[in-house]
Amino acid sequence: MSSVYEVINPATEKVVTAIELADEAATDAAIERAHKAFDTWRHVAPGDRAKMLRSFASVVSAHREELAALEIENSGHTRGNALWEAENVANVLNYYSAAPERLFGKQIPVPNGIDITFKEPLGVIGVIVPWNFPMPIAGWGFAPALAAGNTVVLKPAEYTPMTAIRLGELALEAGIPKDVFTVIPGKGSIVGARFVTHPKVRKIVFTGSTQVGKSIMAGCADQVKRVTLELGGKSANVIFADSDIEKAAANAPGAVFDNAGQDCCARSRILVEKSAFDKFMSAFEVAVKKFRVEDPSLATSDMGPMISAKQKAAVEKYLDEPVAFTGSAPSGPGFWLPPTVLLPTSTKSKSWNDEIFGPVVSVMTFDGEDDAIAKANETEFGLSGSIWTRDSGKAIRVSRAIESGNLSVNSNSSVRYWTPFGGYKQSGLGRELGPDALDSFTEVKNVFISTGK
Ligand code: NAD
Repeated sequence: MSSVYEVINPATEKVVTAIELADEAATDAAIERAHKAFDTWRHVAPGDRAKMLRSFASVVSAHREELAALEIENSGHTRGNALWEAENVANVLNYYSAAPERLFGKQIPVPNGIDITFKEPLGVIGVIVPWNFPMPIAGWGFAPALAAGNTVVLKPAEYTPMTAIRLGELALEAGIPKDVFTVIPGKGSIVGARFVTHPKVRKIVFTGSTQVGKSIMAGCADQVKRVTLELGGKSANVIFADSDIEKAAANAPGAVFDNAGQDCCARSRILVEKSAFDKFMSAFEVAVKKFRVEDPSLATSDMGPMISAKQKAAVEKYLDEPVAFTGSAPSGPGFWLPPTVLLPTSTKSKSWNDEIFGPVVSVMTFDGEDDAIAKANETEFGLSGSIWTRDSGKAIRVSRAIESGNLSVNSNSSVRYWTPFGGYKQSGLGRELGPDALDSFTEVKNVFISTGK
């Protein structure tokens, strides 16, 4: 029996629409159809597959405003972010549309014959998406998967199905054949879990919490199913005294409070070199107070609401540690929280260790390069991070020493669709985006052809 989920606008708490959730039988049927479609899709001529992906990209780009409006309403994303997110899907499709004609194998010298390798598609790929960035995270999975000749079943998060459903419709409009890319709204425990157990789903691309990611990895072991995991983070923003402190402070709010802190790359631990602490904190306070928390549909909005009352309540539990200062937030309906800066008293403090996934940042000092590296690495996560210094040698040494997949020097930007993205330690397994992502959507097949008599 299927059930219905009411989508709530997190900025107003009003019901937006009701979405029918798939049950296990509907999931199985969609997987069977995707499996059947694989046989045709994998044999579409590379140039034609490329053309269809480019057409999909242009249709997405043409619907950028519509997709952004859906995301603002469904997820409370700011207008600036939502427009970027829709365009990111188009960009990722365009980037991987160049792949079908370039899925090269190798020719390896061998005696008495020829040895060649092929990059074969896997089959049906199950993409499971979280609620924090519904559009980009979906695209990072489905675009390279489709380009490599796989078919895709995609499950959006319960809270945020609207843009994924629309992307599924736009794919058909763009000429992607039916059943090649299917969006299945539903519960993680039903649709997502079935992706893991269904033998015709040959790989899982999961983005979400570390806890669920671990259970998915364990489930995949049963069939030795391929899996890519993009999980949580507790990234450090390391600010050395020799850096441009004004610039580091002006940019620090965006690095953690963007998307109301519901960002796996959020720099939610700020480490400041002791001698620069006072200077940094006064500039940081000015920047936090300027950070505009308001109706996300306004072009001026820097931050919208949290996704849900539940997420807001989970974040509020961390607010019992000493507060340095806060920003502002609207009152009235909506799941609003002001940006909050904490000063934990020890590296054992909860706020210093847990992924809070809300607009809360903890600040601590360090004493020299070694201490900065040790404190940055004192976490089970390793997704992103920033290093601010004018000493280029130190920037490189510290970048090499921090155990994290995506670091920025004198910048907080982590994501470009043409560079790899993924985590160390419990932040994940495998890499998405960039030139190598296709490798995780193909198997290498080696064929020896004898030239002997
Ligand atoms: P979540 O783990 O609760 O859910 C993620 C997705 O998994 C949802 O679609 C959910 O329905 C599904 N799911 C839940 N239980 C399942 C099960 N048993 N089997 C299969 N699927 C299941 O995470 P969330 O709360 O939606 O997202 C927030 C988390 O995602 C944060 O921890 C954040 O750090 C992480 N995240 C990581 C990245 C990254 O790239 N590393 C990006 C965004 C979010």
